[in-house]
Amino acid sequence: RAKREGGDLYRFFEPAMDQRLMERRAMERDLRAAIERNELYLVYQPQFDTMTGELVGQEALLRWCHPERGIVPPADFVPLAEESGFILPLGLWALERACTEAASWPVPCRVAVNLSPAQFRQPDLIAVITAILERSGLPPQRLKMEVTEGLLISDTERALTLLHALKEKGIFLSLDDFGTGYSSLSYLRRFPFDELKIDQSFVGGLGRDLGSAAIIEAVLALSRSLGLSVVAEGVETEEQMRMLRDWKCPRVQGFLLGRPVRSDELFSTATWVRTPAELQLQALHPRQ
Ligand code: C2E
Ligand code: MG
Ligand code: MG
Ligand code: MG
Repeated sequence: RAKREGGDLYRFFEPAMDQRLMERRAMERDLRAAIERNELYLVYQPQFDTMTGELVGQEALLRWCHPERGIVPPADFVPLAEESGFILPLGLWALERACTEAASWPVPCRVAVNLSPAQFRQPDLIAVITAILERSGLPPQRLKMEVTEGLLISDTERALTLLHALKEKGIFLSLDDFGTGYSSLSYLRRFPFDELKIDQSFVGGLGRDLGSAAIIEAVLALSRSLGLSVVAEGVETEEQMRMLRDWKCPRVQGFLLGRPVRSDELFSTATWVRTPAELQLQALHPRQ
């Protein structure tokens, strides 16, 4: 088509496409080597109970420190890993690392691990997760798995079976990025989730547009009647925090309350428990 539209155009952008493809291949190759080269690590972001201020969880987020590119955000390499199939070993690496690190924390909060829909196609997923939990010594009750709506739509029956199996093990199930996918509200009733995470785009809209506020209030009312917990993610301002607390949103996560940091920085420093955000949270909810 390009050729018909202008003879030179074709020759003009072909090398650019080549370039991009080669970049991708290089990234893929580097990513496959990244685990052994020790370039991957996890950072953890706290999740708090809005009413008590208690730390209820830490979400594990993948980071890749590339020797030339520096820190590559997961949005740039997780999709690549999903397309190449490398997400299976990568996802298991993250799970094992998260469980092992969480097992050594002084506070027995949950560790939340993101699971790619592609990982649900792994035939022995439940057995592998069981083995990882046993090796790490982390009780299944302390593991939370975050999955996105895409999983529920692509292979509904398999997703149902696997999620029930995880739930039976005692693993806590969270539906991530809620509101951004195409799943219907009936999914919430059919699937054994314990919690849903309101996507940060809605939280970001608080105080800016009425639509976001309306959606958050509706989701909170719905989850209350379904007996689900809720995490609002991406809380950045005190105003957002105040609104969420007024609406009795049970849990919050975001830069206001804590940025993701490495496991060894989580509890070792006294600074963590005394971040300004933590003090703010306490001030908002003085304990009686
Ligand atoms: P997610 O699971 O929805 O994670 C939340 C993202 O929001 C994280 O980005 C986090 O750093 C960011 N975030 C948290 N609080 C705030 C805030 O107050 N403001 C803003 N603007 N952002 C905030 P991150 O670490 O870049 O991860 C992006 C996505 O990459 C994750 O979205 C998740 O889908 C994926 N991901 C990360 N780690 C893993 C992993 O181990 N496995 C899989 N399959 N996916 C992962
Ligand atoms: Mg998540
Ligand atoms: Mg999310
Ligand atoms: Mg997200």
